[in-house]
Amino acid sequence: MRVGNRLGRAVILTEKGTVDVNAATQKAFSPSLDEAVSRLDELRDWWHSAATSAPLDAFDASMFHELGPVVQNPSQVFAIGLNYYAHAGEMGLALPDEPLVFSKFASCLTGPFATVIRPSPMMDWEAELVVVVGRRGRDIKVADALDYVAGYCVGQDYSDRDLQMRGPSAQFSMGKSFENFGPIGPWLTSVDDVEDPNGLEVSCRVNGVIYQDSSTANMIFSVPDIIAYVSSVCEIRPGDLIFTGSPEGTGKGQDPPRFLEVGDVVTTTIEGLGTIENTIVAPH
Ligand code: ZN
Repeated sequence: MRVGNRLGRAVILTEKGTVDVNAATQKAFSPSLDEAVSRLDELRDWWHSAATSAPLDAFDASMFHELGPVVQNPSQVFAIGLNYYAHAGEMGLALPDEPLVFSKFASCLTGPFATVIRPSPMMDWEAELVVVVGRRGRDIKVADALDYVAGYCVGQDYSDRDLQMRGPSAQFSMGKSFENFGPIGPWLTSVDDVEDPNGLEVSCRVNGVIYQDSSTANMIFSVPDIIAYVSSVCEIRPGDLIFTGSPEGTGKGQDPPRFLEVGDVVTTTIEGLGTIENTIVAPH
């Protein structure tokens, strides 16, 4: 099941169009994406019984700009740094012994096809698998971790490398939280439709040139490892997001570095989850 945000309302996406969750369930669900994600099991049960009779609204690629972020008000947005061996190498940083966790503050979240303002000459891209949490939990065991996942989407962890690394001790969160630095989408693919979150091809192109081309199999800490680690400190809650880290091929890793310019188009794809695309624009 694919759940999306179409013009601010929760929809289920099918090959033939979208189904408005609030209308089709006769208001058993509100239009809220956050409610749809926190009640995803119920929504899926309803969908499996009603899919063939649900009213469809036309939807095709020409309407992708109507899609917003699949979660609107998460209580927490975690992100994992240096979670692929070759990316740690290109950043010139040592491999972490445990997941390196920072936050992308929630105000940076945006839809999958948003434009993104370039705040500095050192703006970079990071293609990432994003986990959407479906259940509340603490101290979750690795073996149980995927039971806490609602689904997955594609994300970009846009980064201002200058601000990220500035100061006597690097603190990543601010340099990764500018306006629209966290596009997610194009929709949430529910966990039952993803056989293995650590077996997906992930790629990123800039103006059609491929820079990142890897697999989530190359993560240092797998999705279950990350959930177990994060929940050993923080309670995770429905709608929380986890950006799981970027493979090699970022702009900083090029020789010479290749940072984003105004007008660049960044296309990020994960196998089975879809594609998001952002155009980089000048400050107002
Ligand atoms: Zn990242």
